[in-house]
Amino acid sequence: MEHVKTLILGGGPAGFTAAIYAARANLSPLVYEGIQPGGQLTTTTIVENFPGWPDGVDANTLMDNMRNQARNFGADIRQGVATAVELGRRPFRITIDAEKEIEADTLIIATGAQARYLGLPSEEKFKGAGVSACATCDGFFYRKRTVAVVGGGDTACEEALYLSSLAKKVYMIVRRDVFRASKVMQNKVLAKENIEVLWNCNTQEVLGDENGVTGARLLRKDGTTLDIAIDGFFLAIGHTPASALFAPWLKLDEAGYIVTGAKSSETSIPGVFAAGDVQDPRYRQAVTAAASGCMAARDAEKFLLENVN
Ligand code: NDP
Repeated sequence: MEHVKTLILGGGPAGFTAAIYAARANLSPLVYEGIQPGGQLTTTTIVENFPGWPDGVDANTLMDNMRNQARNFGADIRQGVATAVELGRRPFRITIDAEKEIEADTLIIATGAQARYLGLPSEEKFKGAGVSACATCDGFFYRKRTVAVVGGGDTACEEALYLSSLAKKVYMIVRRDVFRASKVMQNKVLAKENIEVLWNCNTQEVLGDENGVTGARLLRKDGTTLDIAIDGFFLAIGHTPASALFAPWLKLDEAGYIVTGAKSSETSIPGVFAAGDVQDPRYRQAVTAAASGCMAARDAEKFLLENVN
């Protein structure tokens, strides 16, 4: 069985930064990139708030650079998804793609988070045919058309603003009579002429035909329904951390985020560290994910020095 000092699960900013630091510390890290190589950032276009890029940087370029940087220092980066873990013994045992087993003295979990959906059968039916959780990925297809964004947080506002520059009209479907988003984002949305906010509305059904989405049926708080004609239905109602595999072993919070120590990446099992969005319900930024990846690699290095020959 292959044995490594440090196994990193996840190929986003957290995973690659952990890999850069671990490789430079001679830990010869092995990285499995997971379902979405490059992580969630690759579902966006230009990243304008990553320090060091005054004119912004294409998200895929940024992730390719991080991957190459880790590789240049000796990280072994592979494609594959962890399908089983056994963390009750050391070295830890991790199964990749249900077939390859790896033993690891330390494990860094940087598996990120995934967009949430409403869970409607009609939404599932039209996924990829008008239903999307990424405006920056799919917005292009809705030039001069009408779309709806579900949610009232910063992400929903950001997506609605992005779509408003492409689409003819953007509805925002907000379940309360207030936004959750920051004031600055709210103001930007409310100032846009082609964004209409539908307050106190929940989606009952996504409507469509053989060509895809044609509308949505909304249920107002007062019990009445409202049908809107749309071509695209975008979800922006938050994220779910990719932590299910670790639930039998690690302490998670009520929303499923891996609990880490204050100012450290330590989980409830010594030798297992978590970094990035899988343990961060609050900041969820590429730069904070990268920083926590650095912390995880440093923590793993210290753990190995103190606990493994
Ligand atoms: P949030 O949890 O902040 O917002 C989720 C939104 O979706 C809320 O309006 C919530 O409504 C709504 N919602 C949740 N579930 C449902 C449902 N089943 N049906 C209808 N509506 C639903 O998530 P975000 O992804 O927007 O943001 C996450 C974090 O990332 C936040 O801290 C945010 O500030 C940050 N962020 C910052 C950005 C920036 O600064 N530029 C950009 C993007 C995100 P309700 O309010 O009623 O709960």
